[in-house]
Amino acid sequence: MNEKDQKYYKPDWQPENAGEEFAIKVVKGKSKSDYEPQKFKSIEPSVEDLVEGVLKNNRTKLAKTITLIESNSEKHHQKANEILKRLLDYGGKSIRVGITGVPGAGKSTLIEALGIYLIQQGHKVAVLAVDPSSTLTRGSILGDKTRMEKLSKEENAFIRPSPSGGTLGGVTRKTRETITACEAAGYDIIIIETVGVGQSEVTVRSMVDFFMLIKIAGAGDELQGIKKGIIELADSLVINKADGDNEIRANIAKSEFSNALHYLKPATKGWQTKAVSCSAITGKGIPELWKVILKFIEITKTNGVFEKRRKDQLINWAFSMIEDELKERFYHHKLIKEKIILVKDEILSGNKLPTQAVEELLNIYFKQSI
Ligand code: GDP
Repeated sequence: MNEKDQKYYKPDWQPENAGEEFAIKVVKGKSKSDYEPQKFKSIEPSVEDLVEGVLKNNRTKLAKTITLIESNSEKHHQKANEILKRLLDYGGKSIRVGITGVPGAGKSTLIEALGIYLIQQGHKVAVLAVDPSSTLTRGSILGDKTRMEKLSKEENAFIRPSPSGGTLGGVTRKTRETITACEAAGYDIIIIETVGVGQSEVTVRSMVDFFMLIKIAGAGDELQGIKKGIIELADSLVINKADGDNEIRANIAKSEFSNALHYLKPATKGWQTKAVSCSAITGKGIPELWKVILKFIEITKTNGVFEKRRKDQLINWAFSMIEDELKERFYHHKLIKEKIILVKDEILSGNKLPTQAVEELLNIYFKQSI
C-alpha cells in the first residue's frame, strides 16, 4: 500500500468503477494511542521583552501585555505589575475621553468618525470599553458586534473590547492599567466607551478627563434611559444623528439643552457643560466637537482642575481597590459564606437585628483574618 492509501480510504458509497476523477476520500482517524502530546510549549515573552515591545508600540506585545493585565491568574497579575511599574513613567501623557449613551445612540459610529478624524490630525487613538453587562452575564452590549471596522484597520488605532468576567471593580482595575499600557505605547488620545445603563458611567467618569453623553434628538430622556444624575457627570451633551430630516430637530434640541444646562451644576469646576450637535455618519460637527474638547483641556490645565482631577482619581482608585479587595475576600471567606445563610434566616424570622448580624459576621471575619 502506498503512503497516500495509508492515510485515506474511499468511502463505500462511491461507485464501484469510480476513477481518480471521483475526488472524495476520507481521512483515516487516529486512535488515542497514536496521539503524541505536543512537545514544544509556546515560549512566553519575558517582562523585558513586553516592556520593550510596548514602548516601541509593537501592537502584538501591547495586546499580550493587556491579556496579562486582564488575566485572573495570580502569576499573570504579578507579571503585569512588573511590566506596569516599568511603564508608569511613560504613561499619563494622553487626553482621556469618556463616552456614554444608550445602545443605539451612535457611540461606536461616533468614536469611529472622531477616531479617524484625530488620526488624520496626526494623533494615535486607543479605544477601550467598560461593559457592565459582560461582568454580570457573559454576554455583552458593546463587544459582540463587529464595531468600528474602518477605525480598526488604521495603523494608528488600537481597539480593545471590554474585559469580561469579574466585578465592575475588577474591570475598573483592568481598564485603568490598560490605559497606562496604551499611553506608554504612544497613544495620545484614549477613548473609553460605556453603555448608559447603570453604574458604569460613574466608573468611566472616574478615569477620564472629559466625559460626554451621546443623545438622540426627539426621544425624551426617560425613553433614552438617561437619568438626570448622568447629565450632571457630563462635560458635553452631544446630540448625534444631526443629519437629513433630523438635522433641524437636533439643532433645536441643542439650543434647548444649552439653555437648560445653565441651571445644572457643571461636572467640572470652571467649565460650563456644552451642548453640541453632530452627525457621526456625515462627519458634520466632528471637528467642532474636538475643538470643544481641546478648549476644555486648555481651560482645565490653566486653572489647575485637570491636574487636581488626575491626582484625585489616582487616590480614589487606590482606595476603591482596597474596598473591592476587602469585599471580595469577605464574601468569599468559607466561614462567612456558611454563616451568611444562617444569619439571613435569623434576620427574616425576627430573631436577630440586622446590626447584631453585621457585628457578628464582621467579628467572625476579622478574628479569622488576624
Ligand atoms: P451604539 O450602540 O451607541 O454604539 O450605536 P451605533 O454606533 O451602533 O449606531 C446605532 C445605529 O445608529 C446604527 O445603525 C448607525 O448607523 C446609526 N447612526 C449612528 N450615528 C448616526 C448618525 O450620525 N446619523 C444617522 N443617521 N445614523 C447614525
